[in-house]
Amino acid sequence: MSRTWNFAAGPAAMPEEVLLQAQAELLEWRDTRASVMEISHRGKAFMALAAEIESDLRTLASIPPHYKVLFLQGGATLQFALLAMNLAMPGQSADYLLSGHWGEKAAREAAPYVEVRIAADARANQYRALPARADWQLDDGAAYVHYTPNETIHGLEFADIPEVGDVPLVADFSSSILSAPLDVTRFGMIYAGAQKNIGPSGLTLLIIREDLLTRATRPMAGIFRYAEHAAHQSMLNTPNTFGWYLAGLTFRWIARHGGLVAMAARNQRKANTLYAAIDDSGGFYRNEVAPRARSRMNVPFFLHDVQLDAHFLREAEQAGLLGLKGHRALGGMRASLYNAMPPEGVDALVAFMQDFRVRHG
Ligand SMILES: *Cc1c(COP(=O)(O)O)cnc(C)c1O
Repeated sequence: MSRTWNFAAGPAAMPEEVLLQAQAELLEWRDTRASVMEISHRGKAFMALAAEIESDLRTLASIPPHYKVLFLQGGATLQFALLAMNLAMPGQSADYLLSGHWGEKAAREAAPYVEVRIAADARANQYRALPARADWQLDDGAAYVHYTPNETIHGLEFADIPEVGDVPLVADFSSSILSAPLDVTRFGMIYAGAQKNIGPSGLTLLIIREDLLTRATRPMAGIFRYAEHAAHQSMLNTPNTFGWYLAGLTFRWIARHGGLVAMAARNQRKANTLYAAIDDSGGFYRNEVAPRARSRMNVPFFLHDVQLDAHFLREAEQAGLLGLKGHRALGGMRASLYNAMPPEGVDALVAFMQDFRVRHG
């Protein structure tokens, strides 16, 4: 085996135990005498699996009965548009809090379907801090308030759930879902592409308060309607059955390892270790995000001399540390520390960074 520590932002590392279990039952799953990806999604075996997975997730994330859980396709990006089509009535506006790249994209993709109001943004400081609460301009009549709890590229995270009164709060949790306990009842809708903290790409998780399912009044195809997906248990058309199965294995893996409370503690320790290594490097490495807004999941950092970037990445790869190249919008490096990254991986990264600094400082 020559698997490495994989710090990729997404698709990202999966828990090794999950991959091994999937490998062990790849050819024959349970008593179906076929692979789980070769059987009908409408057959008894898969329907039972889907019900188990939903039930496991509900327990894991304490999702109350008046929220529907959907497993869809099209990534978070499709939801940027669908949520506007489903949650806003024609002529209504929606408030967006922008704290980085993905919030901007969500607002842009929603704009053809709802009047987008930027209620707060941190563009002026290049997304190095969250927009100050005192500057938010929320509208009580908005169809919803949208925000991005964790900005995957800029490395910003909200430590608290924004207080937005009675307007439904909608959150793109793609890069931090299941990384810590969450009070689902504070949200109208939560959505997340699976490829960071849940499983492989090609699957999108939606958790939506039931009363919001039937808000949409505009004519649209069934495939665009949340209510239609809910009425068909996420099987309106052929779902990503293999991704769904892997997500289910991941939920069980989280539960086996102490649930969301244990994940939160482990994730916080990992992030603290890496930020300390950056902050204590005497300026050799730097992270530019305001300390209170620093993401536990995605840590962008820069070397004091960009000429060293290529060396750093090459040597890191030789040392078995993969996926550290920063997003092209920011340059530099980025280490993603999702649930599946063990503390030992972060320790290996920090040891490499210290060694690299000594040799090139
Ligand atoms: C990765 C990511 C996306 C994009 O997800 P797709 O599945 O590619 O559509 C959107 N939002 C956030 C916060 C992300 O991290």
